[in-house]
Amino acid sequence: MSTENTKKQIPESKSAPALPAPLSDLKIKYTKIFINNEWHDSTSGKKFTVYNPATGDKICEVEEGDKEDVDKAVKAARKAFQLGSPWRTMDASERGRLLYKLADLIERDRLLLATMESIDGGKLFSTAYNMDLGGCLRTLRYCAGWADKVQGRTIPMDGNFFTFTRLEPIGVCGQIIPWNFPLVMFVWKIAPALCCGNTVVIKPAEETPLTAIYMGSLIKEAGFPPGVVNIVPGFGSTAGAAISHHMDIDKVSFTGSTQVGKLIKEAAGKSNLKRVTLELGGKSPNIIFADADLDSAVAFAHNGLFYHQGQCCIASSRIFVEEPIYEEFVRRSVEQAKKIVLGDPLSSCVNQGPQINKAQFHKILDLIESGKKEGAKLECGGGPWGDKGYFIQPTVFSNVTDGMRIAKEEIFGPVQQIMKFKTVDEVIERANNTHYGLAAAVFTKDLDKALTFATALQAGTVWVNCYSAVSAQCPFGGFKMSGNGRELGEYGIHEYTEVKTVTIKIPQKNS
Ligand code: ADP
Repeated sequence: MSTENTKKQIPESKSAPALPAPLSDLKIKYTKIFINNEWHDSTSGKKFTVYNPATGDKICEVEEGDKEDVDKAVKAARKAFQLGSPWRTMDASERGRLLYKLADLIERDRLLLATMESIDGGKLFSTAYNMDLGGCLRTLRYCAGWADKVQGRTIPMDGNFFTFTRLEPIGVCGQIIPWNFPLVMFVWKIAPALCCGNTVVIKPAEETPLTAIYMGSLIKEAGFPPGVVNIVPGFGSTAGAAISHHMDIDKVSFTGSTQVGKLIKEAAGKSNLKRVTLELGGKSPNIIFADADLDSAVAFAHNGLFYHQGQCCIASSRIFVEEPIYEEFVRRSVEQAKKIVLGDPLSSCVNQGPQINKAQFHKILDLIESGKKEGAKLECGGGPWGDKGYFIQPTVFSNVTDGMRIAKEEIFGPVQQIMKFKTVDEVIERANNTHYGLAAAVFTKDLDKALTFATALQAGTVWVNCYSAVSAQCPFGGFKMSGNGRELGEYGIHEYTEVKTVTIKIPQKNS
């Protein structure tokens, strides 16, 4: 996922404040586990270090949650969910008011949160401030508005009965989030869960826990009752696995790799069959026909791939270009890629920061090498950049064929693959020939073609003549191995409810 509105993606730096928060102001105040609206040390006494990927420098140490801490958090969340608790007896409109209040507090602290997001995750400050924080506010307010509008139905059941449905909260929701959009993912998870009246135990990614922990202070300040949101920083194989295996967690919602998504489902099956929603990887096709507006198609394909250093699950990492415009499309794409300025993500002149960590850095370089070896044409980039941090040159490959690793594997880096196609049937088959199905796009002025692709492409989102247009109102999620369930929109709200059918015997019904 990435942006709320691709148009805003281009001039974003214009509306950014001139400077991030001064680093001297950025004393990291919150580094602990948040349970019952209080700060806790880890039970084990362990901490882990958080690094700045632009410099490799240590930022701070954070309490390392593990199974015992997850257990405590689940107990708190369960208690907050008990019948008769302040949270369960609260008016739905009041839940909405708390979510609006939380949005206002985020807005108040926007500069600080955006700066922290940039230092912790290597995200461009302007992107963090405008896109990420803007997206958080819109999503929170969207869900806040839903709180008192989640309704059941009355049902004309056969016989002398009166039947209605209730959409009840599921209960304690475990939520596990990735490092590429730390705050956005935090909000995508907690906002719909709280709107429907659930309680939450959330684990941020070990690479980027700082803004999530800071949110604990805002959740408390907003006035959410203790135990409604609990935040446990820690590692995936320990704290994350404790959530997915927990016998007293009713639902788990996960965003991350397909590989870990499989483990989450397996853990649900091995424990209490908790409900599972997954938002996983992608290898999204972007199909450009010769009749498309070429300037626009090149720009969207470029942003769709290079946004946030290519670290987006919706990255348009398989670009299929119709033969007559192939050479020109490649030429213009290379021109765009060469204009990218790398450097300090806090600087307003920079438009590409570092990759998140050493492991990702090496994984991307390995895939670039495989592209070279397997015969793709390296048009630009192709290696690391600078002498500190995890920077990779913006890279474009042409003459890519479907069997190459760079055409099949999720790269999660600034590496663009451009393939050639000749016919509609051929490109539909090739675009769908993947285990993934998160997003897809087609660029054409021909309405019939656009609608053919809108139907034929196997993906949770299909864009026509645009890319990365994601918004709080629209359901987002994957077909096939890109996930289960949807986030955002009304569909996303319903993922946090159980449907209960209540049937009452009555003496005599009348139509
Ligand atoms: P990425 O490859 O992008 O780092 P991961 O899927 O490994 O994505 O991580 C996404 C989230 O899943 C992180 O919060 C991570 O700690 C968590 N995670 C990793 N492994 C597990 C696991 N075995 N069980 C539960 N959560 C996990």
